[in-house]
Amino acid sequence: MLFRPPAACAILPPMQPLRLSKIVAKSGLSRAPLAEPFLVSLYRALAPYRGCAHGCLYCDGRAEKYYVEGQFDRDIAVRANLAQVVAADVAAGKAAAEFGAVCFGSGVTDAWQPVEAELGLTRSLLEALQPAGLPVVILTKNALVRRDFDLLKKFPKALVIVTLTTTDPETAALLEPEASTPEERLQVVREAREAGFSAGIMAMPLCPGLSDQSEQTAALFDAAQAADAQFVFPGGLTLRPGCQKQLFIDMVQARRPALLRSYSEIYAENRVSGMPLKSYAAPLQRGWELDLARSGMPARIPWTVYKELLCPADSLFVLLCHMQELYSARGVNIRPLKAATDRYAEWLRKTRASLRRDKKLLQQPNFPVSRRLTSLLQGKRSEDLPLLQSLEENDMAASLGAILQNERLAALCAGLLNGSHDFDYCSLQVSLAIPAGTEP
Ligand code: SF4
Repeated sequence: MLFRPPAACAILPPMQPLRLSKIVAKSGLSRAPLAEPFLVSLYRALAPYRGCAHGCLYCDGRAEKYYVEGQFDRDIAVRANLAQVVAADVAAGKAAAEFGAVCFGSGVTDAWQPVEAELGLTRSLLEALQPAGLPVVILTKNALVRRDFDLLKKFPKALVIVTLTTTDPETAALLEPEASTPEERLQVVREAREAGFSAGIMAMPLCPGLSDQSEQTAALFDAAQAADAQFVFPGGLTLRPGCQKQLFIDMVQARRPALLRSYSEIYAENRVSGMPLKSYAAPLQRGWELDLARSGMPARIPWTVYKELLCPADSLFVLLCHMQELYSARGVNIRPLKAATDRYAEWLRKTRASLRRDKKLLQQPNFPVSRRLTSLLQGKRSEDLPLLQSLEENDMAASLGAILQNERLAALCAGLLNGSHDFDYCSLQVSLAIPAGTEP
């Protein structure tokens, strides 16, 4: 096991051999108090590896904040026992109380990175999880994921998200040296759709001058559409001060020196979060989202996809969070929406915590906590409803009105949960129209 101090801030030769080490997984399935709006999952991400041999130069996991030991893309720590821990959790009923997606991968690893072809830990993990009857959300840059499509078909629902930041193979090879080529990744999306899964593209980070120019993003968005992606979620590059930023800037200096000056300006604030200048990032983000909207492509994982990955109470929370981001980007005043979302989050967090302590309830079959949350949204305290049946709109509107303290929003949400309405992630309309004059 060859560990060395945190990675030196230099561009590292890509083909050094991998050094594998073992770490013992102590926890497996873990339910969060609220669903996570970014990857629309309720259970915390499962990651059989730490470190990632894809070696993306922009990877946030390289930042000191994550305490990944050794050289991030060569020293891969392996949780060989994670599948057993998850299998034990499933057998003990840890996933029996709440319906919601489990995410595979994390910010510091890709579960289908090259070593998975040999070790098969992610596949074992899928096998261990499958009897729980939960949906899965997958995020990867590796076409190896196609190997596991046979297993994904056994889950009630699977969302396959492929990260794609450029369609240009040369730029991809520079930024993401060991990941699959852009064409291979697009093929994953095509095949996932053909296999009956939901699928979309995480288009982040789009890097200044390298992949964020309008002709580059237009090619990316067109390719996503041609591959039958259901969404493209775009986002810019963050560079956290320290090793992550230094490595990337070293690369720019060595390989794209003409861009060095603009990088110094865009990241001049050296923020801990790594965020670029708002004056650079905000108009770009708005432009990407409008470009996508014009071509009918949602800029987030859309409601129609995640409402099948979460119980109604959680899907509503995700929807409210997405609405805030999307309306805000179009210049709409979101203060009332934010206040209602905060009230709903508070209600959901507290109610869920109390239901999770109810031993009698937990003994019931078929996701009793999720079913009870649905009943409560319906305004019913003792009668459980089937998990995903369509809900009575009037009862729901009254019940939600009391929680959100916003009758108009409650009526809109009730229509969505009832299934009688849909939220269009491009026009941002259901019955709630964007007020005239607020469009950018
Ligand atoms: S695939 Fe993800 S985790 Fe792996 S190096 Fe690239 S950005 Fe990091």
